[in-house]
Amino acid sequence: MARKSLRERIGQGVFLLDGAMGTQLFERGAEVGACNDYLNVKSPDVVCEVHRAYLDAGSDAVLTNTFGANKVALKRHGLADQAQRINQAGARIARRAAGEEKYVLGDIGPCGEFLEALGTLKAQELEDGFVEQARALLVGGVDGLIIETMTALDEIAVAIEAAKSVCGDLPLFASMSFDRAGSDFKTMMGVDVESAVSKIVSLGVYAVGFNCGTATLEEYVALAERLVAAATSASNEVLVFAEPNAGKPELVDGQAVYRVSPEDFAAAARMIHLAGVNIMGGCCGTTPQHIRAIYEAVGK
Ligand SMILES: [Zn+2]
Repeated sequence: MARKSLRERIGQGVFLLDGAMGTQLFERGAEVGACNDYLNVKSPDVVCEVHRAYLDAGSDAVLTNTFGANKVALKRHGLADQAQRINQAGARIARRAAGEEKYVLGDIGPCGEFLEALGTLKAQELEDGFVEQARALLVGGVDGLIIETMTALDEIAVAIEAAKSVCGDLPLFASMSFDRAGSDFKTMMGVDVESAVSKIVSLGVYAVGFNCGTATLEEYVALAERLVAAATSASNEVLVFAEPNAGKPELVDGQAVYRVSPEDFAAAARMIHLAGVNIMGGCCGTTPQHIRAIYEAVGK
């Protein structure tokens, strides 16, 4: 039986995304420092295995392994000319794992460079990269697109416009990464929650959210409340999604370590859900066990 449309399914209640991809790939032998996205071409079965672990844990949708697969980011690995291939493969692998019952969101991350005038990257080059990526993800069979971990308003605006120019009616999700800044939350580029939400909503997305960032679980709950309030005042249609990290990272030998247990993560997810968020998943430090715990707490 063909699945319901993504919008129809989300309209029915809690909808669970997946957790971290990178750490799961490293656990399965991926090389630190190499291009994770290229594994879609080189080791598709390993990527598929991670998707299946999340789907088995209760995810309703998985995100494609294409976070860094725009050509501006791929250039740093000498793979700019492989963008289409990597994205199409990423979408096909996720589709294979999700089958006809579950959903696939095509993942678009930041390019890792600053746009003019702060940097030297031209908006047109960035837009071309995101259009190419979004188009390849669609060819590979995604149900929607998710732009995430953005910190700059100009970059997320370019990404949204690019995605919208090719995605037709498919739902578009967009999120930024906020850190605690005094009594407030701001992205690394100094964007506060209200400015982010009003800009993103004005560009016409299906859902606005937060992912990644550095905050305690308690702070992520407060952030969710702020984001819901901002989204509600910006539009009565836009949905909100949340993908917190597994708490605030501790630096151990220069590596970020996340120590929040699946149970504590699920308790925070329940609070985030009570704040009005129905679409939830996890970012850095989360595992299939964390998603399983959210599923047990709110997803069933
Ligand atoms: Zn993250």
